[in-house]
Amino acid sequence: MRLRFDEIPKGGLRLNIVDNAWLPSDEFKCHLPATAEVFLDRNGNRVFCEGSLQVKVELFCDRCLDDFIFPIDTGFKFDLELIEQDDQRHFAKDHACTDAEMDVIFLDEPVVDIFSILAQQVYLAIPDKRLCRKKCLGLCPECGVNLNREHCECGKDLSSSPFGVLAKLKQQ
Ligand SMILES: [Zn+2]
Ligand SMILES: [Zn+2]
Repeated sequence: MRLRFDEIPKGGLRLNIVDNAWLPSDEFKCHLPATAEVFLDRNGNRVFCEGSLQVKVELFCDRCLDDFIFPIDTGFKFDLELIEQDDQRHFAKDHACTDAEMDVIFLDEPVVDIFSILAQQVYLAIPDKRLCRKKCLGLCPECGVNLNREHCECGKDLSSSPFGVLAKLKQQ
C-alpha cells in the first residue's frame, strides 16, 4: 500500500488498515486478527507518521527451540522527509545527525510505503534474544530433553562429571 505525498489531505489522513498484506508472513507465522492504524500529516516535503499495530507472531525459543506466541502491541512516531536530487549529492558530506533528526526517515521519492513501515515495526518489536519464558530451562546438554517439560537423570550422577571428580577428591 503506497501513498503519494500529494494524496495526503490538509488536516491529515487517518487509516485503519484492514488488509493484512503488511504482515511479514514469509518471515514469521502471524496469528490473526492483526490490527494497524496509521495517521499521516503532510507539511511540504515532510510527512509526519504515527501509528500502532497489534499482532501475535510465532517465534522459536533460542534456548529450548520450542515455538511460542509473542504478542506485539507497539506504537511508532517519526517523520518522513523527501530528499531532492540536489540535496542527495551534498547529503552525506554536510549531514550531521542531531538529536532532533533522530526520528526522521529520508526518502528519495514522495511516497509513503505503509505496508513496509508496518512490517518494519514488527521486526523492531521482536527481541534479539527470543525466549519462550524468562526462566526457560532449555534442553539438557546430555540427553536433549526439554527441561521445561521433563526431568532427566543426567545431572544426578555427579561422579562422572568434572565436578563430581572434584567432590570426591575433596572427600578423601
Ligand atoms: Zn524456551
Ligand atoms: Zn538429560
